[in-house]
Amino acid sequence: MLGRMMTTPLTVSEIMHFAERHHGNSEVVSITADRPLHRCTYHDVFRRARQLANVLERLGVERGQRVASLAWNDYRHLELYFGVSCAGRVLHTVNPRLFAEQLVYIINHAANRALFFDIAFLPLVESLADKLPTVATYVVLTSADNMPERSSLDLVCYETLLGAESDDYDWPQLDENTANMLCYTSGTTGNPKGVLYSHRSTVLHAYASCLPDALNLCNRDVVLPVVPMFHVNAWGSPFSAAITGAKLVFPGPKMADGESLQSLIEAEGVTLALGVPTVWLALLAYLRDSGKTVPSLDRTVIGGAACPLTIMDEFEQKHGVRTLHAWGMTETSPVGTVNAPKRGMEKLSREDNDSLRVKQGRGVFGIDMKIVGDEGKELPWDGKAFGDLRVRGWWVCDGYFGQDGPSDSHDEDGWFSTGDVATIDANGYMQITDRTKDVIKSGGEWISSIELENHAVAHPGVREAAVIGVRHEKWSERPLLVVVSADNAKPDKDDLLASFKGKVADWWIPDAVEFVDELPHTATGKISKLRLREQFAEYALPSE
Ligand code: ADP
Repeated sequence: MLGRMMTTPLTVSEIMHFAERHHGNSEVVSITADRPLHRCTYHDVFRRARQLANVLERLGVERGQRVASLAWNDYRHLELYFGVSCAGRVLHTVNPRLFAEQLVYIINHAANRALFFDIAFLPLVESLADKLPTVATYVVLTSADNMPERSSLDLVCYETLLGAESDDYDWPQLDENTANMLCYTSGTTGNPKGVLYSHRSTVLHAYASCLPDALNLCNRDVVLPVVPMFHVNAWGSPFSAAITGAKLVFPGPKMADGESLQSLIEAEGVTLALGVPTVWLALLAYLRDSGKTVPSLDRTVIGGAACPLTIMDEFEQKHGVRTLHAWGMTETSPVGTVNAPKRGMEKLSREDNDSLRVKQGRGVFGIDMKIVGDEGKELPWDGKAFGDLRVRGWWVCDGYFGQDGPSDSHDEDGWFSTGDVATIDANGYMQITDRTKDVIKSGGEWISSIELENHAVAHPGVREAAVIGVRHEKWSERPLLVVVSADNAKPDKDDLLASFKGKVADWWIPDAVEFVDELPHTATGKISKLRLREQFAEYALPSE
């Protein structure tokens, strides 16, 4: 027997309609390339989203077709999030930091009909355009008086397009499984793979992200997504914010600029900020140097790469800001686990609490997880056994865009193998020890590069650190620590290695330290172990 409840489809259009009726006056503040600071309301955003939907009709973009954005975080990008999705088209958010050949690959793979881009990316777009046969329209996200004077392309102005359209639009009734957003993983090996989100997955992910043990979002929050809108939909934060009506603050191109972030946080009263660890290093360094503070900031969501304890401690002890350490990936929309304490944990000793906080957290309802050993057997949740982390849930992809059926990463029961190696403890807290491809195997035993890196950055002379495995005759691989030293404070190598004593097993301690001016980063701002391994491919460890 069926229940007698309404079955309204779970669509982003429902989020939009609700936010417009209930939170229309909530503010959206953005730094943009063409104006220092722009202010509008959700009302304005959705009104302009209707104009945008009319633009898509006029441009001949059909339902289900993809349009691309190449843009930083601001209100125009937000209009694209809602306008394109709710019109039944698909927004492909392109990461401008990808290599040129990857950009060409993904735009062609997605068969993008139009490309909406920030003026700063004009040289990039011009250099690619003759390799993008499907793109019929190039739209610059700016106003008429800021349009470039000349270009090799036939450019259209976003504001002019919008201005010519009515703000009346009959949003279509969409099936909840309709695709709405497309995001490619950066693909450290092989071509990038497209993760195609649906309205349903987006709504459920946004809904769950608001939960108290997840981002704990409410209407009184002021949300600053420092994670780019081209990186897994800014972790879904624009959709979660719209559900609650939280004020949104966008940093535009000023993503890794400590000074701009501080002044936005202070002026706009930001309570919740989201980003990868590297951006917080920039903010914290600016706060240290300037003596400025972030009084309104209540919590930061830090994920995308392991968050060292030093960042959490500096936020908490100096600025009273709690860190929510979270784990996820493009394939999981991305929120998978969030590190929120359980009942009774307030009584933990400092040391136990520290060990807990560096873990990536507990599953959010909607995502189930397990760890699996070499023979495919599920491993115990004892905090010690580590294996392939697999997940399953409403906002996990069941395959990749343009590929039939499940992928090589999906097992026969539908679990998705994340490519991460992890432990899960008896309380359900998952801890990533490595990415499968970064694992260091010494004498047949695994060494966690992430744990070594966490200890390394706790040394006052270390700004950024990475540990990679290098060839070793006897042990097959041994860890090498590569360090960017803190300003004017290059630590002594022996001193640095001695600092690991007592924190990890002796045989885990790296065999050598190398200093570099800079570590290579991926397009999403994480340390690229792949490039680092290439850099040190011929490295000879000191003999024992
Ligand atoms: P890419 O890094 O290729 O752009 P994603 O952004 O999807 O792709 O990255 C997902 C990966 O980032 C995860 O599989 C995991 O290895 C890593 N990651 C994400 N969050 C964390 C975290 N809190 N701690 C450690 N690793 C993390």
